[in-house]
Amino acid sequence: MLQNSSILANDNLSVAPQAAPASVQKASLPPLQDAFGRTFDYVRIAVTDRCNLRCTYCMPEEGVEFKHKDSVLNAEETMRIISVLAKIGIKKVRFTGGEPTIRKDIVDLVAGAASTPGIKGVHLTTNGLLLHRYAKDLLNAGLTGLNLSLDSMDADRFMRITRRTGVNTVLDNIQLALDMGFPRVKVNVVLMRGFNEDELEKFTAYTKDHAVTVRFIEFMPFDAEQIWGSGDHFASAESIVARIHSLYPDVGPAPGTRTEHHIFKVPGWAGKIAVIPAFTRSLCGNCSRIRVTADGSIRNCLYSDDEYNLREVMRQGGTDDDMIALFRKAFADKAIDGYESKKRSDAKVSLSPHRGSMTQIGG
Ligand code: SF4
Repeated sequence: MLQNSSILANDNLSVAPQAAPASVQKASLPPLQDAFGRTFDYVRIAVTDRCNLRCTYCMPEEGVEFKHKDSVLNAEETMRIISVLAKIGIKKVRFTGGEPTIRKDIVDLVAGAASTPGIKGVHLTTNGLLLHRYAKDLLNAGLTGLNLSLDSMDADRFMRITRRTGVNTVLDNIQLALDMGFPRVKVNVVLMRGFNEDELEKFTAYTKDHAVTVRFIEFMPFDAEQIWGSGDHFASAESIVARIHSLYPDVGPAPGTRTEHHIFKVPGWAGKIAVIPAFTRSLCGNCSRIRVTADGSIRNCLYSDDEYNLREVMRQGGTDDDMIALFRKAFADKAIDGYESKKRSDAKVSLSPHRGSMTQIGG
């Protein structure tokens, strides 16, 4: 039975983390591993599947079949998942979506995660449109990393990609995050041929005076069957890296995260440039991530349709051990890489619904 469960009848109350007994301050249970010996210490939790943009590489103008509010994890459930995961060695939490800042309790969620024993870093991936409303509170709540999605610096092109306006708001909010001293500020750019490929130089040049990491991410087939099928828009990590080297011959390697498979720095520049082979999947050997969807399903790989219903376990009175057992099952089933995951999913009619849009998965 959960402690403190009475605290959270209403999501707007500040979220108290599940005060873990002293014995589980440090992860005392075996870490979460898969059959290949990889250790999973990083969870991406989607806190909503809704968004205030309609990006062409994610969902159509009319949106997708959004989850009913009651089926979305509430704050208490989200905190419980984080504290249970901390028991098995998870150290890093990233809140994603949809657009996480449309959750009114996003600051409380960050504060709760940041004060959960065992959690060392709390990160947020946002489209940046609402950041100015929460920036100060997020920083005070203990947010340690901020990724802002921006695929174009040009207003018309931004509109063409996102079907909304707001490019200057996002650019201003990136600057705001830097001015406020957020520990890690990154800019995620999905680079697509025929859309924004010609802005590679503008984005890399942005790292000259801005202490951000610009991360070029390969386009992925989670666009709700909008443009991926045409096959015209994929730009490979390899081609992006080659262009960076031709633009900046003296560019050198730089430290980065496991996902930042290719990461560079132009000597003397403030920021860094990374390239994420998210479709080429040449980073799977280092995979460390757990995904939990907004409606509480565990996914052991971005490309796998297999899901494990954690919300059901919790809402049917399951214990923390039941939850841990489900995580261990999910990762015991994990395939060696994203290709194998996709092959397995294509080969069988998965019991879980196929989620065609990134907003339904959580990125
Ligand atoms: S494709 Fe799957 S296995 Fe590879 S890094 Fe992504 S989540 Fe991990």
